[in-house]
Amino acid sequence: MKITSVSTALLEPMPWVLVKVRTDEGLIGIGEAYHGAGVHQIAVDHRLMRPLIGQDPRNVDKLFRDMRNAMSASGFYQGAVMSAISGIEMALWDITGQSFGVPIWQLLGGKFRDRIRVYNDCHEGDDNTPKSWAEKAKAVEARGFDAIKFDIDPQPTQRDKYNRGISNENIDFFVNAVATIREALHPNTDLLIDAHWFYSPSDILKVAQGLESLNLLWLEDPIPPENIDVMAMVTRSTSLPICTGENFYTAHGFRELIEKQASDIISPDLAKSGGLLEGRKIADLANLYYIPYSPHNISGPIGTVAACHVCAAVENFQVLEFHHLDNELWNGLTIEQDLIIDGHITIPESPGLGVTLNENVAREACKEDLGFFE
Ligand code: MG
Repeated sequence: MKITSVSTALLEPMPWVLVKVRTDEGLIGIGEAYHGAGVHQIAVDHRLMRPLIGQDPRNVDKLFRDMRNAMSASGFYQGAVMSAISGIEMALWDITGQSFGVPIWQLLGGKFRDRIRVYNDCHEGDDNTPKSWAEKAKAVEARGFDAIKFDIDPQPTQRDKYNRGISNENIDFFVNAVATIREALHPNTDLLIDAHWFYSPSDILKVAQGLESLNLLWLEDPIPPENIDVMAMVTRSTSLPICTGENFYTAHGFRELIEKQASDIISPDLAKSGGLLEGRKIADLANLYYIPYSPHNISGPIGTVAACHVCAAVENFQVLEFHHLDNELWNGLTIEQDLIIDGHITIPESPGLGVTLNENVAREACKEDLGFFE
């Protein structure tokens, strides 16, 4: 079997990047790359095509390395380039699974679990009262989710958006809001908080101190991601579990974070950190330190289900992110409906990815001027 073409479709309003790989035997693989500037174009760039066209798509690890190596001298292979490679890699696994008649999770070593627990990201309350944050959380919990996330991004009253400071008023608001949510939820419903890299170490630790008694599953991205030593310091300075990882690429990119145990939980995004096998390698590296694995995910259903195959196949999976509750396009993009039931996604049993892209829905959502898998 040989790869004959790679093509993409950029959707809107969410800029999901779908990748299609075709073969000379008629098998077609679908993947999803993390959206980012030009990812839909990078995925079909001739420098990525060269190592793929004419090759057997089932040599996935080799082709991943060939793509990576091909981009080494062309601006390196992180960021948008690795997102494009990740989407292609997923499509290669889809083809490989179909070719052997087994689901992707089987090729990744088999499954630990039949259902993948997902958490719903609520962002913020409908207004700036702790009560409205709690009401939103209760409404999501009532729909079957037992893990829920809120953001503590800077509020309009924050003093200076450049110095990573946070006012005492804002600290009080966040601690109050999170405490009110915690009080409203069932004790076994996990609550997660995301700080989106906005704060200085000393200021986010003031917030963390206020949250320590609330049994949170984690505080995510308390500071910017680059300085692993500072992340380790923050992690050791609070009893609150710290989670980070969505801005790290490949197993190499996670090595220092994991070896220094700078984060209690890691959250790679499989649509940008290197795809499915690299996602498994990152999980296994973390598992050497007993670190739970909770992938970041804002993908459409293709990227989300692809991530589920890895989540099924690794021992240390904890919970998978989900952002698109009540998003008609998310729900319409696959022929299979109701992928999330009671806060869980059931692992597909059919070959390859195990869900089918609804091409008509995708075509309607496609940015027309860029073409549709052409
Ligand atoms: Mg996040």
